[in-house]
Amino acid sequence: MEHLKNLDEIVGTVCREMQAHLGHGRVADYIPALAKIDPRHFGIAIAIQPEREAEEVAIFAAGDAEVPFSVQSISKVFTLTMALEKLGGALWKRVGKEPSGSPFNSIVQLENERGIPRNPLINAGALVVTDALLAGGDPAQLIAGILDFIRGLAHDPAVTIDPEVATSEGDTGFRNASLANFLRAFGNIENNIQDVLEVYFHQCALRMNCRQLARAGLYLAHGGVDPGSAARVTSVQRTRRINALMMTCGHYDASGDFAFRVGLSGKSGVGGGILAIAPRRASIAVWSPGLNAWGNSHVGVLALEKLSSLAGWSVF
Ligand code: GLU
Repeated sequence: MEHLKNLDEIVGTVCREMQAHLGHGRVADYIPALAKIDPRHFGIAIAIQPEREAEEVAIFAAGDAEVPFSVQSISKVFTLTMALEKLGGALWKRVGKEPSGSPFNSIVQLENERGIPRNPLINAGALVVTDALLAGGDPAQLIAGILDFIRGLAHDPAVTIDPEVATSEGDTGFRNASLANFLRAFGNIENNIQDVLEVYFHQCALRMNCRQLARAGLYLAHGGVDPGSAARVTSVQRTRRINALMMTCGHYDASGDFAFRVGLSGKSGVGGGILAIAPRRASIAVWSPGLNAWGNSHVGVLALEKLSSLAGWSVF
């Protein structure tokens, strides 16, 4: 139990040390509903896999770990998991596995690469993933299915979708609409574009707190099995691959910097959240809404850098 006491101290230390940095960075204002969030929030939660089967998942949290926020692009990890379960390896015919080195909503690369997005964690790739999940179905049903999947992983029916954020994105999402149209021109979107965008905006508008998010990501630290229910979410091999993509592509064009500083796989969102995975140990969620120049949480990255050094967690 010594290491558990230690984690309690570590989240406390990280939270205390981050206070001096709060307020740096800019909240994402291109989605009006996100522009009004106070950048001075900070929350952290670590969900650890139990050492023995009968033990419960333990969660260590500090700061604003109970305050819900918009998970935005972190949702891409969960829809990718769903799409791989549905389509298997066929998905890789439609989307690549390479870091983009470009901003999350970049359009130029798509032209050169003839409508095959670099990876599933940038917007273009995530739109293709959503299209693959939709496959002629009803958008409302798919939105409900995504919500259900994440509630199940978080073991919490209180996870919701924020309709105001979804509408706000719909009203201003001209760039995502352009990406979807461009993909469609190359034949890499098969459903009605409005339907794909509706699902995409709703998945990005998922509202979770750090505790729920850390708990939901635990299967990625645990070989694809949710340790709470022992249910297999995805295979060991897919879990490794999702983690590899998070490591190489999870922080837009600052993915190398994140790997260098933190040494864990991770996915950020413009709501200021980051989900990070320490394989065979823990799933970690941090949240602080002020973003750095690459659209990643300024304090979130600092906090994970501190945490990985204090806990000695790195995949290298
Ligand atoms: N919904 C946001 C967008 O598509 C997600 C961006 C992000 O978190 O990277 O612009």
